[in-house]
Amino acid sequence: MCTDGVVVSKQDDLVAQGQRNADADSVQVKHFLQQTIDKDIDEGRLTGPLVTRFPPEPNGYLHIGHAKSICLNFGLAQEYGGVCHLRFDDTNPEKESDEFIRSIKEDVEWLGFEWHGDIRFASNYFDQLHELAIQLVQKGHAYVCDLTADQAREHRGTLTQPGINSPYRERSVDENLALFEKMRQGDFEEGACVLRAKIDMASPNMNLRDPIMYRIRKIKHHQTGDQWCIYPTYDFTHGQSDAIEGITHSICTLEFEDHRPLYEWYLERLDLLATPRQIEFARLNLNYTVTSKRKLKRLVDENIVSGWDDPRMPTISGLRRRGFTPHSLRQFCQMIGVSRNDSCVDVGMLEFAIRDELDKQATRAMCVMDPVKLVITNYPEDKVEELIAPAHPQQDMGERVLPFTREIMIDRADFREEANKKYKRLVLNNGIRLRNGYVVYAEDVVKDANGDIVEIYCTYDENTLGKKPEGERKVRGVIHWVSATHGKRARVNVYDRLFSVEFPDKEDDLLDGVNAESLTLRDGCYIEPSLLDAAPEQRFQFEREGYFVADRYDHSHDSPVFNKIIGLRDTWAKK
Ligand code: ATP
Ligand code: MG
Repeated sequence: MCTDGVVVSKQDDLVAQGQRNADADSVQVKHFLQQTIDKDIDEGRLTGPLVTRFPPEPNGYLHIGHAKSICLNFGLAQEYGGVCHLRFDDTNPEKESDEFIRSIKEDVEWLGFEWHGDIRFASNYFDQLHELAIQLVQKGHAYVCDLTADQAREHRGTLTQPGINSPYRERSVDENLALFEKMRQGDFEEGACVLRAKIDMASPNMNLRDPIMYRIRKIKHHQTGDQWCIYPTYDFTHGQSDAIEGITHSICTLEFEDHRPLYEWYLERLDLLATPRQIEFARLNLNYTVTSKRKLKRLVDENIVSGWDDPRMPTISGLRRRGFTPHSLRQFCQMIGVSRNDSCVDVGMLEFAIRDELDKQATRAMCVMDPVKLVITNYPEDKVEELIAPAHPQQDMGERVLPFTREIMIDRADFREEANKKYKRLVLNNGIRLRNGYVVYAEDVVKDANGDIVEIYCTYDENTLGKKPEGERKVRGVIHWVSATHGKRARVNVYDRLFSVEFPDKEDDLLDGVNAESLTLRDGCYIEPSLLDAAPEQRFQFEREGYFVADRYDHSHDSPVFNKIIGLRDTWAKK
């Protein structure tokens, strides 16, 4: 969480750093995970291929933090010629669902990674895990405990006080085997007893105070159906699943550091082939953002957003719908690097990654967001000229056709009746260049009963296509426009950051930090006709406005819908 109020990784320095890393592969310094793997190879600990895994719990959609973990696990496997597994650690069936499984698979593929072999589930190993649990009972390392949850909490002690032994700790192996079997048969109610590892109730590491291995849960599992009424805990599952799969390097976030001794304790007592090497790294935290599935779920459940893939969400599917590309997310993960120090990254870096890519790659188009009509009084009524504009100012990406007509739309903010010299747009009795078109001069306005301008009357100079006007009249700048008769109506969703406070986790209530203006719906926008051919997820720069994407689900030729990805410049930096 970004709770300490310090953004360590600021956009400016890290952007520079990121570019250095991305541009100059040859001088790139290896990060500590690469160094550890190199050492394992040099010292003969890694003799076969590197095997990593990405192990999500299917209890929510993946977020940008997971993208970091995905890029690391899959990226390292690629780099070292190894493989990476996708494994669902599905030990908590009541919070899990097929919807989450489907979305996670889709996100990993969309990011551009391919898992090795079939998708795996920890639940594939439930039989094996059950046998391993029996082995531990037989060796006297596990016991069935009947303490209630409250009693168990009291026995557990605190960080400063040791726990006390359960009265059931000294049950005989035979009794434990019989009771564990009864648990499995469904003879006990939920909560009546659990299977615990017999480690050390006085350990300073709370994870070693006789942790639970199995619980009774009489619920259906999305993979195993009604086969089980006892389920292994995450901690009894994770390390063994890694070992069963032959994972050589188990890369995880820092909060698992204190769990490592427990995973090793289990593995030392079990006959499994491999012992994975666990290495922890700092999780990604971003300002103006939350990256916790629980908190993201709350935003969904309380209808603050339209769903997990709402374009304002920091989920991978939300970022995708917003218009981020897989490359921009991978690039961002590369820029932020990896370390063992907890830090908070400036969300401006994520925005930089997509802006940088789209500046080079997005074709240009014109969209008038808040239209007002401009009538060119000396232009023939039925005439339609096809003006040609480049799809990109620098790159050879083809051309587009802009129908030019007597009536066009311009943005309301681009006209004033009076203005000083700093205003580089259209002013009454002044001229302006229409982007990719002629110079026009404003001569009159028509207002409605409220005094709002409804039409602007102009004349055009027919000798100004691609040429400067002759004579003294002033041209203040360039504005964008769309034909009022040949342009098309579109809806544009204008998004801004979901949180207006830098550290939403620090608010008393998360919802207090939500930006009330994170979405503005604009229904009456005018787009140039070429945009009707946009495919869903195609991205554009709307000239002078920013970068936009045709909505993945709602956009169609007959009813165009675009989402604002990001502005042309970082406007938050100045706030
Ligand atoms: P959350 O805290 O959002 O619920 P989680 O850790 O419970 O996330 P998992 O599905 O268990 O979610 O995560 C799968 C993998 O992604 C784990 O290896 C975890 O360490 C890693 N991961 C989760 N959050 C981040 C993050 N913010 N930065 C980097 N890696 C992360
Ligand atoms: Mg987790």
